[in-house]
Amino acid sequence: MHFADLGLKPEILRAVEDVGYTSPTPIQEQAIPYVLQGRDVLGIAQTGTGKTASFTLPMIEILANGRARARMPRSLILEPTRELAAQVAENFELYGKYEKLNYALLIGGESFDEQIRKLDRGVDVLIATPGRMLDLFERGKVLLADVRILVIDEADRMLDMGFIPDIERIVGLLPPLRQTLFFSATMPPEIRRLADAFLSNPKQVAVAPASSTAEKVEQHIVPVDREDKREALRRLLRQEQIRNALVFCNRKRDVSIVCRSLQKHGFNAGQLHGDMVQSARTETLEKFKAGEVQILVCSDVAARGIDISDLSHVFNFDVPIHAEDYVHRIGRTGRAGRSGRAFTLVTRDEKKFLDAILRLIKRDLPILELPDLAVDLNAAPEEGERPSRNRRERRSGAEKEPRESRQRPAERSAAEDPAREAAPKPERRRRERDRDEDRDEVVVGLGDHVPAFLLRPVPKPPRRAAVSD
Ligand code: AMP
Repeated sequence: MHFADLGLKPEILRAVEDVGYTSPTPIQEQAIPYVLQGRDVLGIAQTGTGKTASFTLPMIEILANGRARARMPRSLILEPTRELAAQVAENFELYGKYEKLNYALLIGGESFDEQIRKLDRGVDVLIATPGRMLDLFERGKVLLADVRILVIDEADRMLDMGFIPDIERIVGLLPPLRQTLFFSATMPPEIRRLADAFLSNPKQVAVAPASSTAEKVEQHIVPVDREDKREALRRLLRQEQIRNALVFCNRKRDVSIVCRSLQKHGFNAGQLHGDMVQSARTETLEKFKAGEVQILVCSDVAARGIDISDLSHVFNFDVPIHAEDYVHRIGRTGRAGRSGRAFTLVTRDEKKFLDAILRLIKRDLPILELPDLAVDLNAAPEEGERPSRNRRERRSGAEKEPRESRQRPAERSAAEDPAREAAPKPERRRRERDRDEDRDEVVVGLGDHVPAFLLRPVPKPPRRAAVSD
């Protein structure tokens, strides 16, 4: 199958040719014709399958005719993270270069003024994260009555990040007569319910279910003790032929620790996590893309938007707590038909998470034993065995996070942010927006959370006291 067979116009085909794609990926092959027909589409596809172009290409075709009015975008694409939103914008720039389409990117962490100026000029495509979108709507800077195409991308990640109430609200503001394209890597019941509510008689297209890791990725399990992880990582980095690599940690603070440790040992490493200011994140990402930084240590959410098509390696410094994150992490390499290598450092504590991953991907993974560092993952730590180490692990909280994270994603988002449960709605929305749209760490302490009982009005003193005076 060729792109020309999909019914796209010559200007778009030329742009695709300029990028160097020779044939559409399976999700593009399936989805593009339906989108061009104006059908709603439910796409089950993970990143790395070419799903972004499966909606951006036909959108360019559809939107090529017509003009946008000031503040009234003609299409809206909702993305869970700023990086993903920026990546979609890049897609429009690449594939829409022979068309005269205007787009605006509404993402947190960037100046309102520039975004508002663009909206005032009229945009065909509005790409936004839910929080910033609602902010600008509430300020009257954007009107949604002209939106004819809605894209909800990475719906499962939106759920994970607690954005579903915002999405429901935004969808309620859109005209009911519209085309909706809904993408998710997985289809848990909550997402299925949303898809049923938002889509009308959709065509379902699916590629590589989220439980399957890219076939072209050679994956290895590396059993180690927790305190040997950094050395194990260094050894792997030295013995592998690394072109560029992502190193995933489960916690933000470990991202910094691992990055600094690698730098200290002479590796060309950078870091990416949700606590960094947007300009620093963009700069690091640009350096990584340009090859100036070779190893990028990151958290799951921060890495969601990284689109580097020829990533050679992925390292899991920690076993992801949610098995599906493993699929997403590994999906960063072996993209678009290329090969890649992945290594997961596993401690005995983390064995249960590894087991969940193996059940999900329905395959066994080869074990790579590093001399002097290898441990037997099946041997439960015996009473008295390496006591100081086990005690240290317990003190450092190494066991705490896994236990907490066994909750399902929906429960987790409420538990991670105690304020979500108690705060009144507008306050909660603002807090969600303010929280950088991609927190990935458990909140410790009260922070700015005011417990609900403190917000209750104080009852008046009983009148009897006055009478007895
Ligand atoms: P996505 O799943 O949208 O994140 O895309 C994954 C990667 O595949 C991106 O780097 C795209 O540039 C690339 N890609 C998208 N479509 C094609 C195609 N038809 N042929 C080769 N690479 C593609």
